Amino acid sequence: MSDIVEHGWEIVRRTERGWPGHFICAHLCIFHRNTLLEYGEARIVVSTVGMMRDPLKEGSFQEIGLNRYYETMAFHAKKCILDKYWDADVTREVNFQSPWYIEELGADDKANDMHENVVFEIINGLWEGRYRAEDNIIDDGFGNMWSKTCPECGKESMEIVRPGKVQCAYCG
Ligand SMILES: [Zn+2]
Repeated sequence: MSDIVEHGWEIVRRTERGWPGHFICAHLCIFHRNTLLEYGEARIVVSTVGMMRDPLKEGSFQEIGLNRYYETMAFHAKKCILDKYWDADVTREVNFQSPWYIEELGADDKANDMHENVVFEIINGLWEGRYRAEDNIIDDGFGNMWSKTCPECGKESMEIVRPGKVQCAYCG
């Protein structure tokens, strides 16, 4: 499902997805939200996970980090999983100001609000021109710059072959 958030004529496409967006133990997390925001060439994933089950103790939950049971993070997206989805590129985190963790258990309502606040902040950031393609640039050290995104397949797979020349690792 995609929603369109309009701001004058500028449109951010918002898509809610059902799979956990980040975190190595996310498969244990009962709570997860994963929102893709697309604005022109910019794509950001906002991901919240929480309520991590303790696999050794039925009915118990573990902190997912120091003093927290929920956390929200945001990342630039890269295309993965059968070329079908834009997923979080966890090597390229996006910073934001809104609160990003919750210390209490059983706070799904607050986690939802936290997630929405981050989505809202990032939508506004996109409208202000943040998170643009400058994070998606490769250069050859000789003054030439290219987008990392392949115009053919959409993956961030463009590589420098030699000064002045790039090609896609997949498309060639
Ligand atoms: Zn390609």
